[in-house]
Amino acid sequence: MSTEKGTISIHTENIFPVIKKFLYSDNEIFLRELVSNAVDASQKIKRLSSLGQFNGEVGELIVDVRFDEEAKTITISDNGIGMTADEIKKYINQIAFSGATEFMEKFKEANDANEIIGRFGLGFYSAFMVADKVEIDSLSYQDGAEAAHWVCDGSTSYEISTGTRTTRGTDVILHINEDSKEFLSQFRLQEILDKYAKFLPVKVRFGTKSSSEPDGEDEEGKPKYKSVEVDNIINNTNPAWTKAPSELTDEDYLAFYRELYPNTFDEPLFWIHLNVDYPFNLTGILYFPKIKNELEIQRNKIKLYSRQVFITDEVKDIVPEYLMLLHGVIDSPDIPLNVSRSFLQADGNVKKISNYITKKVADKLQEIFKTDRKGFEEKWNDIGLFIKYGMLSEEKFAEKANEFCLLKNTEGENYTIKEYYEKVKDIQADKYGNIVYLYTSDAAQQDGFISNAKAKGYEVLVLDGPLDTHFTSYLEQKGGEKVQLKRVDSDVVDKLIQKDEKIELTLSEEESKKATDLFTKAISRTDMNVNVEALAADELPVSVTLDEFMRRMKDMAKTGGGMGFYGNLPDNYKVTVNGNHPLVKRIIESSEEEGEKLAKQAFDLALLSRGLLTGADLTSFVKRSVEMI
Ligand code: ADP
Repeated sequence: MSTEKGTISIHTENIFPVIKKFLYSDNEIFLRELVSNAVDASQKIKRLSSLGQFNGEVGELIVDVRFDEEAKTITISDNGIGMTADEIKKYINQIAFSGATEFMEKFKEANDANEIIGRFGLGFYSAFMVADKVEIDSLSYQDGAEAAHWVCDGSTSYEISTGTRTTRGTDVILHINEDSKEFLSQFRLQEILDKYAKFLPVKVRFGTKSSSEPDGEDEEGKPKYKSVEVDNIINNTNPAWTKAPSELTDEDYLAFYRELYPNTFDEPLFWIHLNVDYPFNLTGILYFPKIKNELEIQRNKIKLYSRQVFITDEVKDIVPEYLMLLHGVIDSPDIPLNVSRSFLQADGNVKKISNYITKKVADKLQEIFKTDRKGFEEKWNDIGLFIKYGMLSEEKFAEKANEFCLLKNTEGENYTIKEYYEKVKDIQADKYGNIVYLYTSDAAQQDGFISNAKAKGYEVLVLDGPLDTHFTSYLEQKGGEKVQLKRVDSDVVDKLIQKDEKIELTLSEEESKKATDLFTKAISRTDMNVNVEALAADELPVSVTLDEFMRRMKDMAKTGGGMGFYGNLPDNYKVTVNGNHPLVKRIIESSEEEGEKLAKQAFDLALLSRGLLTGADLTSFVKRSVEMI
């Protein structure tokens, strides 16, 4: 064959500088593209052989990646089907280049360059992001095929001539450009291969070629070369998710988890093996990690693959938000990868995939709950946050999770939402017919209030997680009829759950007014409102509480990020003076000075019991207490 020169027909002029510039941040994907082409070519020869269309020896299929620092080349070789000169013209000059043209068209339309950068598989063409000259040496599997050699410097002209390859397959040789020398490094290439090629279905071998020029001598006087040739198969061609669940033991799943996250030491709690082939294709394994309170750190760990080629670990648009807390792998050739994000969100398959995963996750949790409730309860601390997140963000998930979401009380007992309702619906019904759930956000700090509630025979739930502010509202809407949640320190217990029986106030109207004035003066704080109320004589003389509604609005404003209207309001505490307590009677009957001192003391004790007594107030309380004893 004589050398033939030609021009690649593409519409867009000077496309290379543009591609180089815009893909610069993600140009490492050239290796993914070329290695997956080599893998495809290897799988094709295997398929042809099994179809009887190729009768030669397939041999061991291996993709080789090597680099030569001296010659500034990276070579990707395979022993796949190879290409004839005509095929190179057809597949490379036309198809690959038309892909690049299409990319440019899309690029012109896109509002945001990020929308397409790195998402658009540029295929073979991406080689020009890092190389200023690319050569192909190929020998087709076909009988009597002649080796072909193609070279292109990134302009629209190419040269094709007889090649030198004597065995079936293809070498793609990249002459790395000045700006991309970082890729001529063992470390860097290993890093990229680890990321993209770790689970490719054909063996990938990585090695350096030793420099041909000796670089000094070793102790024995033999010439020493710059880099030593190392050959390593870098991938696991049969990762766990490609196997049938029946082939795998728990240890296999755990081992695969470690393979995926070599730097994570915590073991996952359990896992789900995904496997569908209709109406879309998807396999994978999702792991439930122990979820700590730092939600952010755990996110973005799911890796998305397409036929074992790593694509991305940003699966935000494919997997529902709350599932981002899970770890693992999703592999689907049906997720369109070469398109922008807005398209992805609208894609029907993507929506179906996301629904499927939600259902699988809910089913798995339900199964564990049903078959091993004790085990489920033990895991609750680690998975509760995830489940609540899911319930708050995805209605479909909430419908199922309502059956296994657990509520824990201060005794450490667990109830489902329904069980809890049944448990408290009589005792904790108030005179208006509401079922009042009392809860604590901090059992240690609210201990006084908790023991008051328990003394009445009431239950107190522990809702102290980062999402519980929102979860309280969820329970009110979906947790049962007329359910109301009140934090245990938001009022005195008789006001939290108001019963019909009325306690008479033993103070006269005049005495009651006197007590109000006296306490208001003694406390002298603008953020506290004094109310004299008729409580049982054995209740505390003074309590300081923070209204449930106001506090909740403020909490929401805080967790919602911005502060908003409620967030900017000061805390407004209510001081309840128990008009039936003997101390209050004594205070009004004392001299003015003595009365004020006692009132202040009783108020400080109330503050102290909820951890609000600090600074100078605390110091003067201690001083006063010493004087009094
Ligand atoms: P895609 O892989 O998406 O089809 P590419 O631009 O990467 O696009 O490649 C274009 C075509 O060139 C491939 O479809 C394939 O037919 C051919 N090709 C590329 N690399 C090889 C190779 N190593 N061996 C055989 N054929 C190849």
